[in-house]
Formats: sequence, structure tokens, C-alpha cells
Amino acid sequence: MVATQATFEGLVIGGKRVAASDGRTAPTTDPATGEVIAQVAQANAADVDTAVKTAHARYSEGRWHEMHTRERGQILQRIANLIRERIDFLAQIESRDGGKPIGAARGEMGSVANTFEYYAGAVNKIHGQTIPVNANGTHMTFREPFGVCALIIPWNFPLVITAWKVAPALAMGNTVVVKPASATPLSALALADLVLEAGLPEGVFNVVTGSGSVAGNALAMHPLVRKISFTGSTEIGMGVMKQAADGIKRVSLELGGKSANIVFADARIDACVESSLWSVYDNAGQDCCSRSRILVERPVYDEFVEKFVNRTKTMKVGLPTDESTEMGPLITTSHRDSVINYIHIGDDEGAKRLCGGEIPRGVLSKGNFLTPVVYSNVTSNMRIMQEEVFGPVVGIMPFDGEAEAIRFANDSPYGLSGSLWTRDIGRALRVARAVETGMLSINSSSSVHIEAPFGGMKQSGIGREQGMTALEHYSELKSVFIAND
Ligand code: NAP
Ligand code: MG
Repeated sequence: MVATQATFEGLVIGGKRVAASDGRTAPTTDPATGEVIAQVAQANAADVDTAVKTAHARYSEGRWHEMHTRERGQILQRIANLIRERIDFLAQIESRDGGKPIGAARGEMGSVANTFEYYAGAVNKIHGQTIPVNANGTHMTFREPFGVCALIIPWNFPLVITAWKVAPALAMGNTVVVKPASATPLSALALADLVLEAGLPEGVFNVVTGSGSVAGNALAMHPLVRKISFTGSTEIGMGVMKQAADGIKRVSLELGGKSANIVFADARIDACVESSLWSVYDNAGQDCCSRSRILVERPVYDEFVEKFVNRTKTMKVGLPTDESTEMGPLITTSHRDSVINYIHIGDDEGAKRLCGGEIPRGVLSKGNFLTPVVYSNVTSNMRIMQEEVFGPVVGIMPFDGEAEAIRFANDSPYGLSGSLWTRDIGRALRVARAVETGMLSINSSSSVHIEAPFGGMKQSGIGREQGMTALEHYSELKSVFIAND
């Protein structure tokens, strides 16, 4: 059980829990009640320096990357097993710290275990090549780890995204320093305890909690960091890319999105409505892959809107501890204010709000709850159709024909995810190829699978996580020629 009393949570450096060197702490709260759950150490630049130097020293000693592959894989598998054994414990931490409905949090913890398991199996399947060069000898390639990787995490899927980075980074033999989001530091700290129990050598996995502007910045700027993997907003990601320029650090970015969900008139509307609903309201809309622009072919537009609004009005907004809750609170009061501000913008732009945007009363009034919003009468140039609201707000817009659907879908600075619904296989493939997006699901809202690449085009990022592709982001290609004589 998560303690009801606020606890102290230290940084994790070299396998030990330590306070910040200046003793600073900051609270992390429960978004559903506003209660302080824990006081969390706030790393300063000196603490980050200690963490990176520790990770660097552990890398240089070679105890991790020189460990035989089967043993390295077995440790990652033990991490997966321990996560599975403790799904309920970890889900309670994630649910309480981030306001996630408990059932959703349990599902996420299962996927965290699957991620470690996938990369446990990948450790001894990373091959180089032998290349027939025009010389008397053999040319071959190796994939070499970097050393220290800085992994910067957002608050919307804290442990899921931590695992997407940590597991492939460790599989390649790197050591890591993780910087969780200030709003949701607790699950990464719980993972730190668990990886030690699984036998990961101390100092291979370090955690610096603290603010982005201090701890995050110091980590991204540290000269011993060779690789930065960042997930978060496009705005902060642009800054991280500039920080990485200093020292030519490798960088991969998973950033914002404003994904389109294209519904053709021949789609199975009822299944499409239910799936589309979750593809925008899951995690209270705080999902980079949220399909927050729904484009519907005109002959079925009215039917789709009516069914979507009716179902939205039945969404159960409630406490995360209640198993029947479909939507929990937003992460912070200030984030809810920013979503409400977008609702004002949408109203002022002339979009028609068909439901939602209310702050529930009663027991929910202490948390950051908001009822889900559907807009019609939207145009592609409106701010609510261009900018990432990152909350339960969706605009539904009609289109005429395939070419217009593609044009609207691509009218965005982002290109992360998306869906399309049609029973015409030729059209499905034509449209899938034409939409500028890193991921797309056809007749489904499911585009995230640990075995397959994940990431965005345009301002949604650089690089792909998950699958075997992610291993390329945590290693360098080395080319070696050996003469025959
Ligand atoms: P954020 O504000 O960009 O923060 C992300 C992380 O960066 C946090 O740990 C933050 O620390 C840290 N940070 C802030 N300023 C920094 C700096 N100057 N240097 C280094 N690190 C810094 O994003 P968020 O609000 O946590 O998450 C929401 C955003 O993430 C959305 O835009 C969403 O689309 C995006 N996202 C993308 C993906 C994807 O895979 N494409 C997945 C999930 C989320 P603090 O928490 O202390 O500020
Ligand atoms: Mg919290």
C-alpha cells in the first residue's frame, strides 16, 4: 500500500538513497485529492554531477557492459518478473502520484514488465555485419554502448516511458541517469529499489529527482553524458536539442502531437465511435498519441457526432481508486487551468461546444477533474485544432473525399500518431502512406506495441523508440577492418 503519511524520497546515486546536498525537497501530490504524498529530494547541479560521475565510473569499470550476454539478459528478465509480482503495488504508486484510474495503471505496469522482458531477450540478438570490401581482409561492424545516457521523462506515462528508455539502454550495456517529471517521481524511485533486488550492479541505474530547469538542465548539459533521450513537450524538446549541440551529444526526442482520426463513410460506425472515444480521452486526454482531431466523411458526420457526444456524456469521471472510473483528474490545477483556457479559446473562435468543460462538485471538487469536451463547427486553422491541448478536448470536422481528408490530416506541425477507418483496403493503404505521421492504426486505435517502432515525424520528434530499432539509439556503429596477413 502507498503510505497515507507523506514520506521522504531521496535521490538514487550509486544504489543508495541520498538527500539533495543542500537538503532541498519539494512535495509530490495526489491529483485526485490535492494531498501531499511525499517530500522528494530536489537534485541541484552538484548532485547531478555526482550521479553522472557515478554512472560514468560504473560504466568504465565494465561490470555491466562486459558482463556475459546471458547474465545481462537474466538480470533484465528478473526485473520484468519482479515488476509482474508487484503490479498492484506499483500501480497504486502510479495511480496516486499521477491520478490514473487504478485499472489503467495496472495495465501500464503490465506493459512495463513486458518492455523489460522484450529487451531481456534482445541482449544476445544484436548482431553486426561482415562486409565484402575490395581489399585483402575482412570488414565488420559492431554496435558499441555509449557510456552514460541521460533519460528525461514526462508525467503522463511515467513508468511506461521510463521503461521504454531504460530497458534498451541497459540491454546495450549503457549506464543511465533518469530524471523523472516533478509531478510523478515516485514510480521511477520504486523501480530503482527493484532493479537492485534483481541484481543490477549499483550505480548502473541512477535517479535524479528535481526540477527540469535545474536537475534536467544540468543533466542535459553534463559533459560526461553521451546520449540524451527526452520525452516531453516540443517546446522543451527544442531546448534539449540545443543543449545537446554542446559536445555533439546524441539525442532522440519524443514530443507533442495533434493526431488525426479519419473516419470514412464505409467504416463500422459503432465500433469506431467507442474506439475513437478512448483514443482521445484515455489518460484524461494527456496522451501524446491522443487523436484529438476527428475528421469524418460528410455522409456519416451527423450520425458520428451524435453517437460520440452521447457516449462522451456517459463517461464516468471519478476517483482513480474506483474500479469503474473511466476518466481521472488532470495532473495539476495549473494544467487544468491551461486546458480550460483552451476551452475559452475554442468557444471564442466560434466552435460549438456540444458537451463538457465543467468542474465536477462534491467529493471530486478537491481534485483537478474536468468533464470531457466535444466541439463541432471547427475549422482546421482554429487553435484548438492546431495546438496540443493535452486534455479531454476533441474537435470533430467533416470532409469531402480522400484528398481533402489527407490535406486536413497533414495540416499540422505535428506528425506523431493517427487512425483511419474504412473497409476499402486500397484506400486504407493509400491514405496510410500519404498521412505524415510516425504511427498509424487502421480500423483500430492501437498503434503502440513494444515490438514495433514508436515515434514521430515533423515536430513530434526525432528517432524511434521500442522494437529492435530502439537499440540503435543506445549504441554507436563501429566499423572495423582486419587485414588477412
Ligand atoms: P515537459 O514539460 O516538456 O517536461 C518533460 C521533462 O523534461 C520533465 O522531466 C521536465 O521536468 C523536464 N524538463 C523541463 N525543463 C527542462 C530543461 N530545461 N532541461 C531538461 N529537462 C527539462 O513535458 P511534460 O509536461 O512532462 O509532458 C507532456 C508533454 O510530453 C506533452 O507535450 C506530450 O505530448 C509529450 N509526450 C510525448 C510523448 C512521445 O512519446 N512523443 C510521450 C509522452 C508525452 P519537470 O517535470 O521538472 O518540469
Ligand atoms: Mg504527483
